Amino acid sequence: MSPEAYHFDTLALHAGQSVDATQSRGVPVYRTTSYLFKNTEHAANLFALKELGNIYTRLMNPTTDVLEQRVAQLEGGAASVAFSSGTSAIFSTVVTLAEAGDDIVSATNLYGGTYTQFEAILPKLGIRVQFVDAKDPGSFERAIGPRTRALYIETIGNPVLDFTDVQAVARVAHDHGLPLIVDGTFTTPYLLRSIEHGADIVINSLTKWMGGHGSAIGGIVTDAGRFDWNGGRHPLFSEPDANYHGLRWATDLPEPLAPLAFALRLRTVPLRNLGACVSPDNSWIFLQGLETLPVRMARHCANAQRVAEHLAAHPQVAWVRYPGLKDDPSYALASRYLHNGFGGMVVFGVKGGYEAAVRLIDRIELFSHLANVGDAKSLILHPASTSHSQLTEEQQRASGLTPDLIRLSIGLEYPDDIITALDEALATAG
Ligand SMILES: *Cc1c(COP(=O)(O)O)cnc(C)c1O
Repeated sequence: MSPEAYHFDTLALHAGQSVDATQSRGVPVYRTTSYLFKNTEHAANLFALKELGNIYTRLMNPTTDVLEQRVAQLEGGAASVAFSSGTSAIFSTVVTLAEAGDDIVSATNLYGGTYTQFEAILPKLGIRVQFVDAKDPGSFERAIGPRTRALYIETIGNPVLDFTDVQAVARVAHDHGLPLIVDGTFTTPYLLRSIEHGADIVINSLTKWMGGHGSAIGGIVTDAGRFDWNGGRHPLFSEPDANYHGLRWATDLPEPLAPLAFALRLRTVPLRNLGACVSPDNSWIFLQGLETLPVRMARHCANAQRVAEHLAAHPQVAWVRYPGLKDDPSYALASRYLHNGFGGMVVFGVKGGYEAAVRLIDRIELFSHLANVGDAKSLILHPASTSHSQLTEEQQRASGLTPDLIRLSIGLEYPDDIITALDEALATAG
């Protein structure tokens, strides 16, 4: 059996590692900043991209390389580039394909930090972001202008876990010669390989389920390797790059590298010169997490499904959103795409509104009250009084966030214990 034929669970354990001269079974951590050149010709070739190899850990590192190859195979992509955070992975992706005067078209229902980056930071650098409704692929089409460089979506959105029709948005993107960027953090490649549905670039925050233990911050970008950057919409790829000896990324790379134009420019321009590199130690932590991604995700999904069904029948609960509930507005779409479960996030409204929500959070045992998702432990947050408290109630409601909304990231605890913790807190919150 050839390694290419391995199933996802097998790749999660083995992909990307070739056992080295030490015969070390675990992936070694290469804690080094730099690498010896064999001679001056070797050094010159590395800098001119005539030969690929290690120069400096800001650009590449053997431990991080295993992580990048493993994620590329799990996503079914051509190459991946790791970053110090999901946030820096997103920023680096955008500035690889857009510059001042350009714009991208993005869904509105984004992770909060991404929304702020798109709404407040990118425009100050001259990159406009046009926000559209993720539920309406036509709204992406209507927003595309002459200097649009990409479309951007998340698979499962914020705050109410609406599922996005990846294929429909990909079709709009490709009809207009644009790449589709997908943030797949909430699904991970175990639940959804967006590249199979038309995504050209997939971003994951490794901080969440892929790392899976709430112990390190990181992000990774995967290039499907099939977008035509010479289609007329991407001068950063089709015009000579003054910083790389006049290289035209879309047309001048030698054959084996040609499909990797985006991943190479991402590594050699923003990663190299803006510098948001992951540490080799964190790459090792993410590799450790990825080994168990399939078994963990299966359990996250089973536990979340059980919690969502329990809450839906609970007298103290006003409403529940989980894409795996049969009467959820996202169920029909999500069940067309997701065959291994519907993710680890559940949101619900508690009867009694804001006050009851705050009381519930203060009383709940077992759940950790903090601002993260995708930990092995169950997490809880009341966005209205924390992450979104700077917005007015009207602004909150406009983004789908109601005062009674409680966000759960369901962990790997024994399911009955999770349910009991919720029941006890609900009994005293109302
Ligand atoms: C957490 C998260 C990010 C940002 O990732 P960091 O690693 O925290 O910088 C981006 N998108 C989504 C969907 C996330 O959940």
